[in-house]
Parts: sequence; structure tokens; C-alpha cells
Amino acid sequence: MPTHAWMTDDHRAFADTVKRFLSEEFQPNRDTWKEAGMIPKDFWRKAGDLGILGATVPEEHGGLGLSYGFDVVTFLEQGRIGDSGWGFSVHNIATHYIAAYGTEQQRARWLPKLASGEMVAAIAMTEPGTGSDLQAVKTTAIADGNEYCLNGSKTFITNGASADLIVTVAKTDPKSRSKGVSLMVVETGGLEGFSVGRKLDKMGMRRNDTAELSFDNVRIPRTHLLGDEEGQGFYQLMKQLPWERLILGYGALGASECALAVTLDYVRERRAFGQRIMDFQNTRFRLAECATKVEILAAFLDACLAELERGTLRAEKAAMAKWWGSQAQCEIVDECLQLHGGYGYMNEYLIAELYADARVQKIYGGTNEIMKELIARGLDKD
Ligand SMILES: Cc1cc2nc3c(=O)[nH]c(=O)nc-3n(C[C@H](O)[C@H](O)[C@H](O)COP(=O)(O)OP(=O)(O)OC[C@H]3O[C@@H](n4cnc5c(N)ncnc54)[C@H](O)[C@@H]3O)c2cc1C
Repeated sequence: MPTHAWMTDDHRAFADTVKRFLSEEFQPNRDTWKEAGMIPKDFWRKAGDLGILGATVPEEHGGLGLSYGFDVVTFLEQGRIGDSGWGFSVHNIATHYIAAYGTEQQRARWLPKLASGEMVAAIAMTEPGTGSDLQAVKTTAIADGNEYCLNGSKTFITNGASADLIVTVAKTDPKSRSKGVSLMVVETGGLEGFSVGRKLDKMGMRRNDTAELSFDNVRIPRTHLLGDEEGQGFYQLMKQLPWERLILGYGALGASECALAVTLDYVRERRAFGQRIMDFQNTRFRLAECATKVEILAAFLDACLAELERGTLRAEKAAMAKWWGSQAQCEIVDECLQLHGGYGYMNEYLIAELYADARVQKIYGGTNEIMKELIARGLDKD
């Protein structure tokens, strides 16, 4: 498995904490929570108590004030246990938005609660009528006195049913495209006009409460516009994309490592034609290819992470990490499932869950077609 040269003893100690936490608090409940389609709030609070949610949140706002690599450790460990249902990634992205663009009052109001797990966060961009074309969102946030009035609907929202805070993409100027977009921070508790619709029935990520949301004349204070200027939303979203895409890449890496590990266990045990499945040359070559892809992915992601830390990671390169990582993950998981034979298709085997979970990685966070479009745009510049 990849070694990640950037990891220090501190990262390894943090990884041990995350591993122990997942093994004690998540693993015994994984089937129950899959059935429930939801991760309980208590689990978030425990993650908060251990500093997992607030690793990169500044210390003055209740976090540990550490660098991106510590969040990466958590994404890797979550992937390695074969889960993508705990919506830590979107919680983390929302937290980064507030840390990066919030006013001092906004940071003081929300970051401590996001770091402790008192608040679970979601990000609501996608609407029934638009996903990839984000500038075409129809949800509006119209200023009215000291408040904004929100109207519209969102769909496919990770943590949608459990979120206490939703960073919502809305048009403060519905006549404009990108310049009309703002990010509104919606606190959901007791909020009139806000409702959670269907919890969506997905092929994978079954522990997550992916949901539809509706805003019907929802009134929020003017001070809940993220930052202090309208029309900055698109720019704010674009600036955070390299981090978001890297997260998806590291999720792909963790899940691929998990697929490889469970498959190695399986093919060493299972026998056919008087020998271990592992002893067939086809198996050995397939697994060698998968292990190579895992190493290449890790090396590329680590190079991107180093650039991100230096502030030089280009959007195009982050898009490469997202599309190639998710593509490699789907290929690896498919090969690994094949080596399980019929058992790979049975839900009681982890590889079946990994297979169902992997597919969406090519769709969300910007589809892989959009990633390639972004990369191509960069190539086509003078
Ligand atoms: C499980 C899950 C969780 C999600 N979580 C969230 C969340 O937390 N928050 C959130 O806001 N959204 C979330 N999403 C939504 C996700 O980001 C969108 O589904 C995705 O961006 C694609 O949008 P769409 O579904 O509207 O597809 P469309 O935009 O309608 O695209 C349909 C197809 O057309 C292709 N296409 C579109 N435009 C182009 C183009 N210019 N060039 C080439 N091909 C193109 C796409 O690549 C795709 O193959 C989630 C989705 C899922 C399935």
C-alpha cells in the first residue's frame, strides 16, 4: 500500500486515532446504519470530541488548526474501511467555505459548532432542473429589509435530512448568471418554510441521507449571506474546487486500497482446480495491475496535495485527480469483484458495497465529462 512521504509521526498518530474511532464506533454499527440510511448525530459528536471534524479549523474557533493533510488522513481511513456513507466530505467542504469566506462573526458563530459536531453541514447546489450547469440555478434569495427570502428546491443533497447548517447556492440577482450567485448559510432548526422531502433511494452510499430540500418563502437574516458581498458565490465555489476534487481523489484511493485488501484475503483462501485463486496467473496479473494503479493514484494525489498546500494547485490538475481517481477506482473495484466470482455479487460481501458506492464518484463533485471539459479548456488557451 502507498506510504505517503509527506506523512509525519503526527499524521500517523492522528491516523491511529481515526482508525480506532472508526473501528470502535462505526464498524459495529455499519449494517444497522445502512438499514437506517442515516448516521446518528451522536457519531458526529464523538468525531468532533476527538478533533476529527475540526482538524483544519483554526484553534481560535475550536479546531486543531492543522494542515490539509490531517483531513486527508480521515478520508483515507474512511475509504479503507469501505464506507462512503458518512458524509464527512461535504461537512468538511462546508466548513472550509465558512473558514475561507466567512466574516469574523460568521466564523465565530459556526466554526466551533461544525468542529464539535453540534452542527452537521450540507452543501446544496444541485436542483431538479440543473446540476452540471450551476450558473443556471433557479433558487432565489431576495433581500428584503434585514432578511433574505429564499425560494426553490434542491435535490441529491448529501446529509440533506440530518443537516443543521446548509450552505445553499442561490441567486441574489436572478437576471444574472455567475455574477448573480451567492452562498447563503441556512440554519435549519425550526426554520419555517424549509422542508426535507424524500430521502432518496440510491444504489450505493446507503448510509447517507441524500435528500430533496424545499425552500418556500424561507426567511434568513441578511447576516447569513456568506461573506459580506452579494454575487461572490460562484467565485467562492470555484476557489474551493481544487480541495473538493482532491478529497474525492483520496476517497477513491482509500476505497481502492480496501477493495484490493479484501480481494487479496479472498483469493488466498478460495480454491478452484486444486489451487488457490491467487495462484492463477490471470489473478496475479489483475491484482498487480490494480496495485500499480493504486500507487500511481497515490503519487499523483500527493503531488497535488503538496501544490494545494503551497497554493499553486490549478483547477485543471485537480480535475485530473477527480476523473482519473474515480475512473481508476471503478476499474479496480470491478476487477476485484470479478475475482470474487458469484460471491462478489452478494451484498454480504464488502466488495459488492464497494462496487455500488464507486459508481457515483464519476458523477458527483462535477461529472467526469465536466472534468475533462475543464482540462481541455486549459489546453485550448493561447
Ligand atoms: C449520491 C449523490 C450525492 C450527491 N450529493 C450532492 C450534494 O451534497 N450537493 C449537491 O449540490 N449535489 C449533490 N449531488 C449532485 C451531483 O453533483 C450532480 O448529480 C452532478 O453534478 C450532475 O448533475 P445532474 O445530475 O443534473 O446531471 P446533468 O448535468 O443533467 O448531466 C447529465 C449528463 O450530461 C453530461 N453533461 C452535462 N453537461 C455537459 C457538458 N457541458 N459537456 C459534456 N457532457 C455534459 C453529464 O456529464 C452527464 O453525463 C449528488 C449526486 C448524487 C448521485
